[in-house]
Amino acid sequence: MKKFLCMVASALMVISLAACTSNKDELVMATNAEFPPYEYHDDETQKIVGIDVEICDAIANELGRKLVIEDMAFDSVLTSVQTGKADIGAAGLTITEDRLKNINFSTPYATAAQVIIVPEGSDITTPDDLVGKKIGVQLGTTGDIYAEDIEDATLERYNKGFEAIQALAQGKIDAVIIDNEPAKVFVSQNDGLYIIDEAFTYEEYAIAIAKDNDQLLNDVNAAIKKLKESGKLDEIVNKYISADN
Ligand code: GLN
Repeated sequence: MKKFLCMVASALMVISLAACTSNKDELVMATNAEFPPYEYHDDETQKIVGIDVEICDAIANELGRKLVIEDMAFDSVLTSVQTGKADIGAAGLTITEDRLKNINFSTPYATAAQVIIVPEGSDITTPDDLVGKKIGVQLGTTGDIYAEDIEDATLERYNKGFEAIQALAQGKIDAVIIDNEPAKVFVSQNDGLYIIDEAFTYEEYAIAIAKDNDQLLNDVNAAIKKLKESGKLDEIVNKYISADN
């Protein structure tokens, strides 16, 4: 009897999980639209645009589904994919060993780095100089995770990358560790800040998909392969990132 009840309970769980996921006409993308040029609100239209949005839109097209974007805090993106509230997570997500324990990642679609932003005149010129400093990071990002290993450093965690940049511009912290492309955008908007030459880490971005969803993983990987081969992926990236910056 106990075994039977267990079976019923697990069957119900599967049904309710399935009910959370979007219908098959839609591809629900969880993101955090605070990460230019990958996902951000367009100044004029306020619509969410960016490299990830266009890549996922192209993937949705390949799958014959309509892309639906769910904007949320960065540290909710992976959970919403794990729990089936979203089909995919696309938020400049770095593949890490730790994340792979709970979620699958597609084949990578971009390379990235965590870089260090400092104010002009700073004595921080290499990653080693971060020892003992006050460092701003975005909550739950790889910058946050890896900065934890810096000796005697104090971490200030912000919900949005640009909030960390503001704190740096106001002299509240000594440095910010953040992904290279948003770093370039934020520095271009703030006089007196610059990115030091040596990166903190090198990483790869991929799309997050729930562990049990092998079909979707295969479909997304096939779509990414097609986008790479046709040149469409480069076309999207080049639209947002110019070769000379
Ligand atoms: N690449 C970083 C990570 O995956 C940051 C991503 C982001 O802030 N959107 O943790």
